[in-house]
Amino acid sequence: MYDYDLLVVGSANADLVIGVERRPGAGETVLGSDLAVHPGGKGANQAVAAARLGARTALLARVGDDGHGRLLLDSQRAAGVDTAGVLVGGAPTGVALITVDPSGDNSIVVSPGANGRLTPADVRAAGSLFHASRVVSAQLEIPLETVVEVVRSLTPGSRFVLNPSPPLPLPAEVLAACDPLIVNEHEAKVILGDDAGAGDEPEEWARLLLAKGPRSVVVTLGGEGALVACADGVARVPSVRVRAVDTTGAGDAFTAALAWRLGAGEPLAEAAAYAARVGAATVTKEGAQVSFPTAEEVDGLCC
Ligand code: ATP
Repeated sequence: MYDYDLLVVGSANADLVIGVERRPGAGETVLGSDLAVHPGGKGANQAVAAARLGARTALLARVGDDGHGRLLLDSQRAAGVDTAGVLVGGAPTGVALITVDPSGDNSIVVSPGANGRLTPADVRAAGSLFHASRVVSAQLEIPLETVVEVVRSLTPGSRFVLNPSPPLPLPAEVLAACDPLIVNEHEAKVILGDDAGAGDEPEEWARLLLAKGPRSVVVTLGGEGALVACADGVARVPSVRVRAVDTTGAGDAFTAALAWRLGAGEPLAEAAAYAARVGAATVTKEGAQVSFPTAEEVDGLCC
């Protein structure tokens, strides 16, 4: 019996957002809107998304001993995430400085801060969390060597889910542990690198990615849904038609939901279909963590 359905190992950032009429050029200052501060980071987002659906969720992350760190801890606890594995100190909390122009385009500067100090030794010290968790998920907003240690810390019978974002070429040891590797188009192309013949077809990316070693692959396709690939073949996951107002966090919500449903024993295609409903529900609301749906809201989504 596991204490946690999902252990998320990853980043926690404060998103500092200012609306601007236009971005400043070099040496220039522009005035913007009031500052909005939101909890974010792919690890923190995935943990909140899973907990909101009802998954028993723990987070292994590092934040600074500062106000942003406290904001992140508070938002995790409010969603019901176990934060005993969140380490505090060593550097300021990671920050994303985001300017948004009137057309809705973002410019983002990220300071990884404490996320960059989540070390392999921190992962080894959290061994009891790995023993207590049915599924472990990670992303790449923490050092790659830390993700390698996550893979080495998996216990027999547990399952590993990776969303390689921001994408990097991955060591064979990490690829071989993924079940599934979850990528969007951009991530698929970076991980395939110069792989000849990748072409424009997501089915082909999925086949080529599978040949790199993961036990399964999921390619997310925004409003077009997703596709799943494993030894049995490649299958489309239908999209759910909704009125999208803000796609921020859709990938994190999708990954969290998929990891949770796989841990509950659902086959990949079924779990991905549920995750697509969660992703669709997420894009119907503004923001990231505040837009993640409850299981009731997912059930109530039409179609
Ligand atoms: P992000 O990095 O913006 O969080 P992503 O690129 O990793 O997202 P997406 O493919 O945009 O991931 O979205 C994940 C899933 O959410 C999709 O596979 C789909 O199921 C669902 N989704 C996203 N956008 C829409 C949309 N406009 N309508 C319906 N479902 C959507």
